[in-house]
Amino acid sequence: MRGQMMDDALTITSIMDFADRVFPNTEIVSVTADNPRHRSNFAEAFARSRKLANALTKLGLQAGDRLATLAWNDYRHFELYYGISCSGYVCHTINPRLFPEQITYIANHAEDQWVFVDVAFVPLLEQVQDQLETVKGFVVLTSAEHMPKTTLKNVHCYETLIADQPDTFAWPELDENSACALCYTSGTTGNPKGVLYSHRSTVLHCMGTNQSSSLSLSASDSVMPVVPMFHVNAWGVVYNAAATGAKLVFPGPKMGDGETLASLVNEEQVDFAMGVPTVWLALVNYLKESGTRVDSLQRVIVGGAACPESLMRAMDEFDVAMQVGWGMTEMSPLGTYNTLLPWMNDLPDDEKMVYRLKAGRLIYGVKMRIVDEEGNELPWDGKASGRLQVRGPWVCKSYYKLEDSDAHLPDGWFDTGDVATIDKYGYMAITDRTKDVIKSGGEWISSIDVENAAMGHEDVQEAAVIGVPHPKWTERPLLVVVKRPGTDPSKEELLGFLEGKIAKWWIPEDCVFVEQIPHTATGKVSKKDLRAEFSSYTY
Ligand code: ADP
Repeated sequence: MRGQMMDDALTITSIMDFADRVFPNTEIVSVTADNPRHRSNFAEAFARSRKLANALTKLGLQAGDRLATLAWNDYRHFELYYGISCSGYVCHTINPRLFPEQITYIANHAEDQWVFVDVAFVPLLEQVQDQLETVKGFVVLTSAEHMPKTTLKNVHCYETLIADQPDTFAWPELDENSACALCYTSGTTGNPKGVLYSHRSTVLHCMGTNQSSSLSLSASDSVMPVVPMFHVNAWGVVYNAAATGAKLVFPGPKMGDGETLASLVNEEQVDFAMGVPTVWLALVNYLKESGTRVDSLQRVIVGGAACPESLMRAMDEFDVAMQVGWGMTEMSPLGTYNTLLPWMNDLPDDEKMVYRLKAGRLIYGVKMRIVDEEGNELPWDGKASGRLQVRGPWVCKSYYKLEDSDAHLPDGWFDTGDVATIDKYGYMAITDRTKDVIKSGGEWISSIDVENAAMGHEDVQEAAVIGVPHPKWTERPLLVVVKRPGTDPSKEELLGFLEGKIAKWWIPEDCVFVEQIPHTATGKVSKKDLRAEFSSYTY
């Protein structure tokens, strides 16, 4: 017997309509390149999304077309998120920090039709525009007076494009399983892979992560996403805020600037902020140096990399509770979140810290398990450590245009590439990674790409790259090299050789020479053994 309830589609349009109706006056404050404090609200932003939707219609697009953004967190990017997805197109956020060749690869693979770009990234696009195979034109996210001189072809100014459009628009009735957003991850080996979110997965992620044991946002919150909107939809908060009426405070291009972050917190009474450890380190350093306090800030979600204990303790001194979250692009991204069980609050500080530093407990909606190399499930005893696998309605089933090679295992679980323990209270802790990548300042570095670039040097017989701890960036790459017999390249020469071949911030700070690199039985470099060999190396 089937249930007899309505099946209203779970779409981003429903979130937008809700916020427009219920929280029209909720503020959106942004730092932009041309305005240190732009003030807007949900009603204004959605009216501009409707103007944008009218402008998009005139561009003659097809449903499902990919429209790329290369932009910081601000109100225009917010309008694009809703205007594009609710019109039935796919909002493809591109990470502007990637190497130009990767941006080209991603835009071509996604077959992007138009690119919406911040003024700051116009030069980057000018450099690659001739290689963009499907892009018909560019829209610069600024006003006519701030429009830069550019060689970009078929270029529009955003404000001019939407200015004369009506602010009414009949949003299409969308299938909840239709695609709404696309984000490429380099967190796996090989070329970046596209994770194609659906309206349904996005709404369910929003509902799931708004539970009280997770983000738990409400209309009394003022939330500052310092996680970029080009990275997994800023961990979904752009939707969560609209679904709960929380005020949004966007730091624009000032994401890593402790002083701006502190003044935004104080001026906009931010009580909840989100970002990777490197960002919070910048904030703490600024607070300590300047003697500033951030008294409104109650909670900070830290994710994307493990939270160092020293950082959590430093934030404690400012009465800011750090809460660890874990997830990945393929998971929309949240899977676990760390809030303490009531009895844990009475534990002595050091014992409490052990739990607080873990990646947290499952968010209802996601399932997880740890398995050994043979796929046998391991106990939740806090000791057994195994491959971490997940499943759920906001977990990726297959990558974009790689539908034949499902992302998940034959039994429907997705292997995260992380290694973890889970204790008897359900707290998961990441202990290692099986994927061969390095995460620096919250962004991926492909060790394989760095290795291939280094192997291109004629004096290198073998090269391997591993991540080693770094006080500011959490992790940085270290190049390990076996010299070709009879040659004697210097460290500086090899590191210099990498310039121009990979993104600048991917270049390791150091290179060490060894007699040999350990290999597995199948002849592959054993990163596990190499990491063990360099376990005491720190930057
Ligand atoms: P995000 O940065 O939003 O988490 P990515 O897909 O870029 O998404 O990265 C996901 C990976 O980052 C995870 O598989 C894991 O290796 C690492 N990661 C994320 N959160 C944590 C955490 N709390 N502790 C340790 N590693 C984490």
